[in-house]
Amino acid sequence: MTFNNRVALVTGAGRGIGKAIAEELGRSGATVICVSKNEASCGAVAAALQAAGGKARAVAVDVSDGAAVAKASAQLLAEFGNIDILVNNAGITRDGLLFRMSEDDWNAVIGTNLSSAFHWTKHLGRAMAQKRWGRIVNISSVAGLAGNAGQANYSAAKAGLIGFTKSIAKEFARRSITCNAVAPGFIKTDMTAVLSEEVTKAALQFIPMQRLGEAADVAHLVSFLCSEESGYITGQVFTVDGGMVM
Ligand code: NAD
Repeated sequence: MTFNNRVALVTGAGRGIGKAIAEELGRSGATVICVSKNEASCGAVAAALQAAGGKARAVAVDVSDGAAVAKASAQLLAEFGNIDILVNNAGITRDGLLFRMSEDDWNAVIGTNLSSAFHWTKHLGRAMAQKRWGRIVNISSVAGLAGNAGQANYSAAKAGLIGFTKSIAKEFARRSITCNAVAPGFIKTDMTAVLSEEVTKAALQFIPMQRLGEAADVAHLVSFLCSEESGYITGQVFTVDGGMVM
């Protein structure tokens, strides 16, 4: 896969899966705009990409803030001319059983995991449509496919992302813009590091491959879905979960 002359924006690129995606696209020649809430983390990823000879830029934006995303999008489009690839990866969990879940926990998870994709796609999609080429990948979760006790907010957001993906795929198809979703299972990142040993052990029972995934396992698929070669694939959901959900 080569991404020379392509500009990619990856949200949540400061660590974990987003960092692996930014590195993969950067290694393959894309100019990568690394977005994170925290300037230090996306700055470090962009600096490492530059040190390796790539082109990268860091932008600190809270992706749940529509006005902030609009402002950043306008500035980045003015600077880069176009953004060809959008990976909506930023996400958070605020787990709890429904009766204990606060409205704030609900809104924060929907805002960061779902509304963020609406904001970025709306603000960057128009320029892609004008150029008649684009790739959008939304990072969902197996929780959005199968549900998960204690994650009503997260599962709703991730299932919402799938509906959003399919609708955008239909809206944008005539402009040669694809939109797909990737649903990871248990991947070794800070997000799963907080789970107890007991929960992780229990999860392994449901993973035929008997191991957690690596961030790179997700990044390889995302890279393909952002490539020229994937141009006839749109509106799909791909699990990367060691066989957990079939
Ligand atoms: P992580 O917690 O390691 O990283 C999340 C990244 O998102 C961080 O860089 C963080 O700064 C950024 N972020 C969070 N809120 C933000 C905000 N409001 N604005 C901007 N950036 C923000 O998580 P991860 O495991 O790498 O997860 C990446 C994506 O993959 C998430 O959408 C997550 O829901 C999804 N996912 C992860 C797993 C897993 O097992 N790790 C499984 C399924 C889906």
